[in-house]
Amino acid sequence: MARGSSESTMAQVTLGRLEAEEGALPPVCLCCGKPAALYRVHRFGWQPVYSYLALLLTIWPFLFLTLLTRRRMRVLAPWCPAHRRYGGVRRMVLPPVLAILTAVLVLTTAWAAAATGRPLGGMQQLVASWTGGFLLLSVLLIARLRTVRAVEITTESITLTGVAEAFAAQLQLEKGPRAQPLPVRAAS
Ligand SMILES: [Zn+2]
Repeated sequence: MARGSSESTMAQVTLGRLEAEEGALPPVCLCCGKPAALYRVHRFGWQPVYSYLALLLTIWPFLFLTLLTRRRMRVLAPWCPAHRRYGGVRRMVLPPVLAILTAVLVLTTAWAAAATGRPLGGMQQLVASWTGGFLLLSVLLIARLRTVRAVEITTESITLTGVAEAFAAQLQLEKGPRAQPLPVRAAS
């Protein structure tokens, strides 16, 4: 994927489950590449791209596929002082935004039904559903732009994209000869 930006370059790395969960990662901030001040757990989630497209079919197939396919992995990741709460704000803001958006959609549909004095027909419900699904999908995608995020999680590994180039370079460097364990602090 091309990134037309002059900001710090982003890289993609694949970590083994063990090194990710145990924090056997170089002390370089995952987000900006500056020296890390601490290691803190970040939970990554991932599900196949096609499952998001199910949102266009209405919310139910999407929720069903999410239940079936979503994988999670906790990564004990290095962060600089500026990014030590990385992802926290998004995690706090995103659920309310999605909840409000859903409520607005439901109320709008109910209002439309009340205004016409009869329940919406099948076609109208589908259109409302598509619109809703499209809006939710857009919000989810926008929230993920330019973040450190998982592009694949398997039982053995996690692939992260949007990580700092300096982190990826250091990881590459340490992976040659088996790196000695790093001093790990503040695991919560
Ligand atoms: Zn940082």
